[in-house]
Amino acid sequence: MTQPDKCRLCGGMKASGHTTFSVDPGDGPVVAHHVPATICNQCGKEWIETQTAQQLETIVEEARQKKHQLEVLSL
Ligand SMILES: [Zn+2]
Repeated sequence: MTQPDKCRLCGGMKASGHTTFSVDPGDGPVVAHHVPATICNQCGKEWIETQTAQQLETIVEEARQKKHQLEVLSL
């Protein structure tokens, strides 16, 4: 069963895509590119899955320790 995935905010269609995630934990910004996300094609709201968010937390922590910005090609 495949149901159209609709945006809870505007009712627009959601589609799989990628986003850029950035956070500044205090030691400088960490930027992750090509983060898988679901994006509304109407209002642009992005959803990152819990599992992906957890992976991002780990990546951000690693990047902080290396004091690097990190590019994520796939999660
Ligand atoms: Zn929307």
